[in-house]
Amino acid sequence: MSNPDVVVVGGGISGLSVAWWLARAGIGVEVWERNARPGGKIASCEIDGYLIERAASMMLNFRPEVRRMLALAGLDAAKLMCPQAPRNQRYLVHDGRLEPFPSRLMSLMRSPLWSRRGRLRLLAEPFVPRGGDPTETVSEFVARRLGAEALERAIEPFVAGPLASDADQANAYTVLPRLVALERRYGSLALGAGLHHLLLRRAAPIRELFSFEGGMSTLVETLAATPGIRLRTGIAATQLEPGKSGWHITGRTCDGERTVSSRHLVLSAPAPAAAALLHPLDGALERLMCGIGYASLAVVHLGFDRSAVRHALDGPGFLVPRAAGLQLTGCQWNSSVFPSRAPRDKVLLTSYLGGARAPETKDWHDDRCIEVVLRCLGSLMQIDAAPQRVWITRHERALPLYHGAYHGRLQEIDRCLERWPGLHLAANYRGGVSVRDRIVEGFALAQRIGKALAGSRRPSPQSSVIDSSPLPIATRRAG
Ligand SMILES: Cc1cc2nc3c(=O)[nH]c(=O)nc-3n(C[C@H](O)[C@H](O)[C@H](O)COP(=O)(O)OP(=O)(O)OC[C@H]3O[C@@H](n4cnc5c(N)ncnc54)[C@H](O)[C@@H]3O)c2cc1C
Repeated sequence: MSNPDVVVVGGGISGLSVAWWLARAGIGVEVWERNARPGGKIASCEIDGYLIERAASMMLNFRPEVRRMLALAGLDAAKLMCPQAPRNQRYLVHDGRLEPFPSRLMSLMRSPLWSRRGRLRLLAEPFVPRGGDPTETVSEFVARRLGAEALERAIEPFVAGPLASDADQANAYTVLPRLVALERRYGSLALGAGLHHLLLRRAAPIRELFSFEGGMSTLVETLAATPGIRLRTGIAATQLEPGKSGWHITGRTCDGERTVSSRHLVLSAPAPAAAALLHPLDGALERLMCGIGYASLAVVHLGFDRSAVRHALDGPGFLVPRAAGLQLTGCQWNSSVFPSRAPRDKVLLTSYLGGARAPETKDWHDDRCIEVVLRCLGSLMQIDAAPQRVWITRHERALPLYHGAYHGRLQEIDRCLERWPGLHLAANYRGGVSVRDRIVEGFALAQRIGKALAGSRRPSPQSSVIDSSPLPIATRRAG
C-alpha cells in the first residue's frame, strides 16, 4: 500500500478533524488510533433508553468552518437542535439555591445575583485603561475590566465548569482570546462588542447549540468513516524518526510493529503521550509538553423519575461559583435539552465533580463521588427520591489546563517546531478544548499542510489546497 502524504497520530476529534479536511482536498491521510475505536474521549452509550456521553455532550457553534464540515459530511440531517424556548434558562448557585443567570443586560440589572455596586462597576468598563500583559490571569483580566462580581458570578463558574480550570491560574490570553482581542483592538469589551454588533449586524454569526441523533459518537464515527481517510485502530505510535523529506513513524499493534513514511506528521495525542514520542528527538520540546497540566473529572449520570425532581428543569442546567464551596462544578439537565436522552417520564442529570477546583476528588471512590453529587442535587433541586439509574465516568486527564504563562509556553513550543519541518501538533491543549474549536483548528492546520504540499509538488487536477469558499460549495470528492 502506498505511503500517505500525512500521518495523524491520535483518532480523537482533533486528529479526525485535520484528517477530514485533508481528505476533502484529496490529500492521502492515515490516522493511527491506539484504541479499538476512534473518537478519543468522545463516546456515546445507549442504555435502557438513556443516552450517556463520556465527554462532550453538545456543541455550541458560531463558526462557518463547522457548518461547512457538517453539511459536507452529510451530518445536517442527524443534528439534534437545542430548542431556543423562551424559558430556556441557565442557572447559577447563589446563597444555597439556584438563581436564574441573566442572559440580557436588562435582566442583569434586575438580577439578585448583582449588587448595585457590581452593576455600576460593569457600566464603568469602557473607561478602564487598556492592559496588555500576556501573562495576566483570567481573574486579573476580568476583575480589572469588569470588577470582582463579574469575575465571581459570571466568568469564574464558566472557567471552573466547562473548562475544569482555575480562574486564578488560567491564562487570559489563551482562555478568553476573544475578550482579550476586543480589549486590544477597541480598548473596551463593551465598545468592541457594540461596534462588532453594529458593523456585522447583517452578517451576525448564527449561534446553534446541538448534538446528533445517537449522540456525539455520530460525529466522530461519521468523520472516521469518510472515504479518503485510512483509519487504523489498535496501533500505538511508539517511535518517530525524521527523514530526508518527511517522517518515518513506527507503531505497535497486536500483530507486531509497523512503519510508514509520510511527508507530514500530525501529533493529535494528549500532551503527555506526544511528549513521550518527542523525548528522543527534542528534550526542550518534550519538557514544554510535559509541563502542560491536566484536570481530572468524575462525570456522574443520574436517571430519576421526573416526579422525583421538583425543580422545573427549564434549561440546560446550572454552574457552581467557587463561593458556593462545593466540589461540584456544574450539572447538565440533558433530557431537558434533548428529551430523547431519557425514557418518557424520566430525566437524565449529568454532574461534573473535580477539575482544578477540587483535585482531591481524583482519589475518591466512585461511591463517595455519587454520594456528594446526590447531596448537592438533593438540596438544590428538591429531589427527595433515590435515582433509578447511576453511571459514573472517570477521566484522570479530562482537560488540559491553560494555566500559568501558557501563551508563552505555546510560543516556545512553536519555536521548537521550527526545527522539525513537517511536524505539527493538533490537540485540545492549544486553540481551545471545545469540539467547535477542534474542528476550526483542524481546518487551519489542514490548510497549512495543503499549501506546503501544493508548493512542493507539481500541480495536479486535484488541488491539495483546502477549499475555503463560503457555503454552498461545489462538492469535490477525495480520491
Ligand atoms: C467530561 C468532559 C465533558 C466535555 N463536554 C464538552 C461539551 O459538552 N462540548 C464540547 O464542545 N466539548 C466538551 N468537552 C471537550 C472535548 O470533548 C475534548 O476537548 C475533545 O474531545 C478532545 O479531543 P482530542 O482529540 O484533542 O483528544 P482525545 O479525545 O483525548 O483524543 C486523543 C487520542 O489520541 C490517542 N492516542 C494517544 N496516544 C497515542 C499513540 N501513541 N498512538 C496512537 N493514538 C494515541 C488516544 O487513544 C485518543 O483517542 C468535554 C470534555 C470532557 C472530558
